Amino acid sequence: MEPPLKQTRIDWRAEAERIERRLERLSRISEREDALDRPPFTPSLRRAMEEISRWMVEAELLPAVDSFGNLLGRRRPRENGQPVLLIGSHLDTVPNGGRFDGALGILLGIAAAGLLRPRARELPFALEVVAFHEEEGVRFRSGCLGSRAFLGLLDEEDWELADTRGISLRTARDSFSTEGWPRVPPYPPAEIFGYLEAHIEQGPQLEALGLPLGVVAGIVAQERLLVSFAGESGHAGSVPMHARRDALCAAAEFVGFVEESARREPGAVATVGELHCQPGAVNVIPKRVDLSVDLRHPAEATLDRLSARLRERAREIGKSRGIEVGCRRTQRLPAARADAGWQDRLASAVAEIQGEAPRLWSGAGHDAGVLGRFVPMGMLFLRCRGGISHDPAEFVSVPEIACGLEAMVGFLEGFLP
Ligand SMILES: [Zn+2]
Repeated sequence: MEPPLKQTRIDWRAEAERIERRLERLSRISEREDALDRPPFTPSLRRAMEEISRWMVEAELLPAVDSFGNLLGRRRPRENGQPVLLIGSHLDTVPNGGRFDGALGILLGIAAAGLLRPRARELPFALEVVAFHEEEGVRFRSGCLGSRAFLGLLDEEDWELADTRGISLRTARDSFSTEGWPRVPPYPPAEIFGYLEAHIEQGPQLEALGLPLGVVAGIVAQERLLVSFAGESGHAGSVPMHARRDALCAAAEFVGFVEESARREPGAVATVGELHCQPGAVNVIPKRVDLSVDLRHPAEATLDRLSARLRERAREIGKSRGIEVGCRRTQRLPAARADAGWQDRLASAVAEIQGEAPRLWSGAGHDAGVLGRFVPMGMLFLRCRGGISHDPAEFVSVPEIACGLEAMVGFLEGFLP
């Protein structure tokens, strides 16, 4: 029998440097030359899949795709009935994004699978890697579409979601070429041993603690709304103030209320990040405003209450101003707790590296939140400088990547007999 990896010499720094070089390579695969922008179902996403497929092959994983186009690194042959432990994250980025968000988790998974190859047979599961698409939810305004598709959770309404050019999710998926990869059927949850995701923290807590790693306790519940205010346009000079039905003024009142409500609710965050004003001319009274609301809280009931309060207030504002208000929920992701046993296992792997293992709630949504509703889920957070993410300034150092890999491998080794 081969010795456990713990007792063999692994050059964690060299492994981390290789991951860093791969991240650098992926960061140049973008729809734009001046920034990292890799939306789902685009040529750049396909090129990134090709690159990752090569690294999967090096780790003796067989690249394949599911019917959504998610990239899977499968272990073959998988023994009959052996469940799969999936390590993954997402390959899409936000516009002008950073190079660690998503990609780092995929590359850590590939590296861990490669390092554990000599003892693969002794593990109680087949170790596989998955790279999901459209986690960010920028293009179709709905997040974690890839992981939801992976579990067969998308309904007709989801498939009809359209991007800003009117292209539906279904059309985008159908016209995305995955030629060259075998298409494989999805796993039923019963065949999944669990899902592990490493991700940058995207917040300042680990930096404040002075620690490179944290164990995720769970992911907060999240809701997205699309709210529209329809009034009447008119000349900015000749329509008197009392006779106006200004859609933007109604929207402004609502935006203020969104902020105030979230501030009054401990643990809640709310953001209006998108606002489209029509016709959008300096001397025309705004006729229509469409805006997005993103609401989050660890407790479902609180989120429901907050969401209901916002809708009610939007209608009141509309009524008092003669504005027609529309409100549509575009996304609801329930809170997901990390598996208690996995949290403990991750905590002991992390504590071995840095002495302690803080447990954090994730305010950001992750594919792990989707998987965690059906299978045991664990998440590892890596410190990122300044807590900055979704920005080119996003940064994780090589020693921090090394800690992340060591913790991931330590966690997996914990399942060896
Ligand atoms: Zn991410």
